[in-house]
Amino acid sequence: MINLSIRQMADMLTTKQISVQELNGVYHDRARQFNDRTNALISVYEELCAREVMQAQDLLGKAAHPLAGIPLIHKDLFCTRGQTTTCGSNMLEHFIPPYDATVVSRLSAAGMITHGKANMDEFAMGSSNEHSAYGPVANPWDLSRVPGGSSGGSAAAVAARMTPVATGTDTGGSIRQPAALCGITGIKPSYGRVSRYGMVAFASSLDQGGVLAPAADDCGLVLSAMSGHDPLDSTSARRPGWAWQKPESADLTGVKVGVIQDWVDGLQDEAIKQLTLQAIETLKAQGASLIDIHLPHADLAVSAYYVLAPAECSSNLSRFDGVRFGHQTAQAQNLEDLYRRSRSEGFGEEVKRRIMIGTWALSSGYYDAYYLKAQKIRRLISDDFRQAFDQCHVLACPVSPELAFKHGEKADGVSMYQADQFTIPASLAGLPCLSMPIGHAAGLPVGLQLIGRYYDEQSILAVADQYQQLTRHHLQVPEAFL
Ligand code: GLN
Repeated sequence: MINLSIRQMADMLTTKQISVQELNGVYHDRARQFNDRTNALISVYEELCAREVMQAQDLLGKAAHPLAGIPLIHKDLFCTRGQTTTCGSNMLEHFIPPYDATVVSRLSAAGMITHGKANMDEFAMGSSNEHSAYGPVANPWDLSRVPGGSSGGSAAAVAARMTPVATGTDTGGSIRQPAALCGITGIKPSYGRVSRYGMVAFASSLDQGGVLAPAADDCGLVLSAMSGHDPLDSTSARRPGWAWQKPESADLTGVKVGVIQDWVDGLQDEAIKQLTLQAIETLKAQGASLIDIHLPHADLAVSAYYVLAPAECSSNLSRFDGVRFGHQTAQAQNLEDLYRRSRSEGFGEEVKRRIMIGTWALSSGYYDAYYLKAQKIRRLISDDFRQAFDQCHVLACPVSPELAFKHGEKADGVSMYQADQFTIPASLAGLPCLSMPIGHAAGLPVGLQLIGRYYDEQSILAVADQYQQLTRHHLQVPEAFL
């Protein structure tokens, strides 16, 4: 059961080989049973889930959406009406949104069953899920290691098959890096593909909702259902809708894959390098032609991102003042003191660090030197990608420079920031990108990143699906969770 694709589950539901109740019962039990070990979930739903199961079972007889009855977990920064939405922060411990995020309402309308909310780095800031007010998440492949972040709870929950699919968000790598470290597939769509309405904002020009699941096909199905223009989000693109088409064969003839060779050559971890080269060779054996691509400004991406993202976060997080939103201190002397104490008590260390860096980078005298310069670098990186895509259809490169690290191993912020070196460039350019599993080193999963042209999710998902038609890495489940 736990290795069925979403397509297979949907088939079994419509042909009545299994009921919605049975399917969801299996995942509900696994979510409960494995949460002690992984801490992947901040909340597990009982009544809401039971109600949705009844509704989906009713729907199935009629013209139901193909996703009706399929279990789902949302990252805890998507607003869920009447259910806490913590964003991994003490600031929002008691926040109960009065409305659903568009992603949530679209997937519910399709008949998917929400089982709960996933743990995450506070306000999506981090690459290890250690910055959560609700405790760190354990990587199902080795509980002493991190699952990556910030969508670490979503990735761990899928890896342990506590759910067949989860939503996540990616600002600079938060879907792709945890997907890589947990041995599953994760896609961040093009900026504007998925509505940000009801998604708690971190860095608004970069944030995108996406999907984590074992296979590219699963991701494609769910992404199609949650994407499309939304009048409630002015940054959602006014473009025609899209429905994922699964390729019929694994033949990649005619597909030009650009390999970012400097990134592969620069990998310090020999095992990751070998697996990456091997996966690229497999694509070639499937018929793809390989082209060597160089992105001259990409090595500036981490520095630019860690100015731009904090700048946007300092502005976005100013709404949490303890008055309208967020934790309110019990002991304010006056209004100024209320703001100061509420924010000091509510935010964790990393969030405070980002607010301070961002406020500083935006302050007069520093704005031109840092914020403006970072914006210019962002443009140069976008131009690099544009030139690369004159020569190829998709790009292939590493996701993470290292395997899942031990909890507590990266104590200082800057070494954690370096974990994002391969994921940030595509984020700055707003391009669709995914991570897919390509094997294990020392028992830990490794991913390969595919980056596509703007609004061409179809091509990267297709290449991943075609690779997965011939390989089984995405079907591996950690032994302790079988
Ligand atoms: N790790 C990056 C950061 O800490 C990316 C986070 C994200 O994509 N939300 O900002």
